[in-house]
Amino acid sequence: MKIISVVSIKGGVGKTTTCINLAAYVAAMGVRVLLVDLDPQNGVMFGMGLDDYHGATLKDVLLYGIAPGQAMAQTNHPELRVMLAGKFADGDELERFERAFESNGDALGPLMRAVSLGWGFAPQLVIIDTPAGLGSIVANAMTVSDSLVLPVQCEPLSLRTFPQTLKRVMQLKAEKNPKLDIEGVLLTMYDAKMDAVHGVARQVWESFPENLVFETVIPRHEQLASSFAVGMPAVDLSTRSSGAQAYIQLGRELVMRLPEG
Ligand code: ADP
Ligand code: MG
Repeated sequence: MKIISVVSIKGGVGKTTTCINLAAYVAAMGVRVLLVDLDPQNGVMFGMGLDDYHGATLKDVLLYGIAPGQAMAQTNHPELRVMLAGKFADGDELERFERAFESNGDALGPLMRAVSLGWGFAPQLVIIDTPAGLGSIVANAMTVSDSLVLPVQCEPLSLRTFPQTLKRVMQLKAEKNPKLDIEGVLLTMYDAKMDAVHGVARQVWESFPENLVFETVIPRHEQLASSFAVGMPAVDLSTRSSGAQAYIQLGRELVMRLPEG
């Protein structure tokens, strides 16, 4: 079981969009995938059309001792299950959720070990969506991960904040998780019409070794945003759009690097 987290200090760079499309496409390729949402905003719930799901969630696992196997929502893909962050009754419950990560540097370790045992669905790949920032929720995600996808939106502010993300990744790797790898830096929302885009992309390509930057660049494409209105990842809506095509290509890059079995 390989665990990949999608992480960025800056919000709005395409983390959730990347998670739902990658998870849906890789599952459609026949790989058993568990998508875990650590973001109390619940973007994954909307992206996967799970607004009506009333079963158990990550919140119930962490706060109420529910077994992880009971908190995996089924989806249209037989090979894809989703562990939603959970709907929070009030500020107090949300605070307790966040505190579960603050008080325990390895809140997700036992959960991931339980998930790897199966419960009728032993995932080959776990994809973790994280909230923006580099706080304890994100630190916990990095602590259990094998590798990270690091999205950089093709615009100057995203690039300028990126060194803070990298610094934290290196620090966490040194202190908590020596096996943590960078799966790849992912350029997102590429829009050739915007001048600033080219400089950002060039700088990323020049600053990192080739094997640390995904060959696939995600274009800015309306369908990748509008798909949240209908609750279906773009790769499930139409595989022909350039946005879906890019995530399909990214999915192939990822699957090629998965261990056998
Ligand atoms: P994050 O999870 O990093 O906060 P999101 O995936 O929620 O980022 O994306 C932020 C916003 O940008 C959302 O409104 C989303 O629909 C939109 N978006 C993300 N990726 C693209 C893209 N490639 N093209 C167009 N819109 C995008
Ligand atoms: Mg998000």
